[in-house]
Amino acid sequence: MSAMSRAIRAFGGGGASRRNLSVAASKEAPALAAAAGLVAGRKAGRRDPGEDGSRVQWVFLGCPGVGKGTYAGRLSRLLGVPHIATGDLVRDALASQDPLSKQLAEIVNHGKLVSDEIIINLLSKRLEEGEEKGELGFILDGFPRTIRQAEILEGVMDIDLVINLKLREEALLAKCIGRRKCSQCGGNFNVASIDIEGENGAPRMYMPPLLPPPQCESKLITRADDTEEVVKERLRVYHDLCEPVEDFYRARGKLLEFNLPGGIPESWPKLLQALNIEDPDNKRSAAA
Ligand code: AMP
Repeated sequence: MSAMSRAIRAFGGGGASRRNLSVAASKEAPALAAAAGLVAGRKAGRRDPGEDGSRVQWVFLGCPGVGKGTYAGRLSRLLGVPHIATGDLVRDALASQDPLSKQLAEIVNHGKLVSDEIIINLLSKRLEEGEEKGELGFILDGFPRTIRQAEILEGVMDIDLVINLKLREEALLAKCIGRRKCSQCGGNFNVASIDIEGENGAPRMYMPPLLPPPQCESKLITRADDTEEVVKERLRVYHDLCEPVEDFYRARGKLLEFNLPGGIPESWPKLLQALNIEDPDNKRSAAA
């Protein structure tokens, strides 16, 4: 059993006080840090990724549809650290014959959050697998999503930067509904064409569709939780449960707010600039 799972069980699966949580979680720090392939207690250099990616222990926050997966994925490839999306872990568990999968489908397809215990078990398992492969560092996407998850993570790992992606609310629903994935190559696309008038001093925002190549066109799938009704519920859940996580990291001076100015070609170079990272191949990758 992983350190994080043990920490959760030690809390009795809920009901633990804030103090107990952090005390119990911090006892697990060396073991969990080891599970993540990191040297326990080492301070990661803020916005200063090491050459081997070992100094990157970052978190991406943001509403559904904002682009966490896109930008976390790009940074992970650029910095050579794993991109760990808890939504992907949940979808893998859903697709498996795991006895949990039916229970998970009920929750996810209604836009709710799965329990902290389940998500931490999935994440612990993923970190352990990474450790076996010698992975260093990570970019977490979609975790933590509740204050309890944030407190547990803070107790066991040294997160040094939390990137909070922001996009105008009108674009989020359209981006989720337009999202498509190729069932064969796994490529991510978006059929939405977003054009929002500038108002109250904000400039016009245009995000062209990201269309699939011809060989993927007949293999596109839509996520079951990307329907209008479920996305609205996911946005409500975000404002309710996940926004306090932004405040949690803001209070600790770890939050970098980043307002996406538009699509990938405009946003990617600006994000790199905000992070003080140079992409040797910026022009090509921004257009990809
Ligand atoms: P995502 O791909 O990040 O939008 O996640 C898809 C779904 O997985 C969410 O709507 C939740 O049901 C579940 N999920 C992902 N990450 C978490 C988390 N940290 N806590 C609880 N549920 C999660």
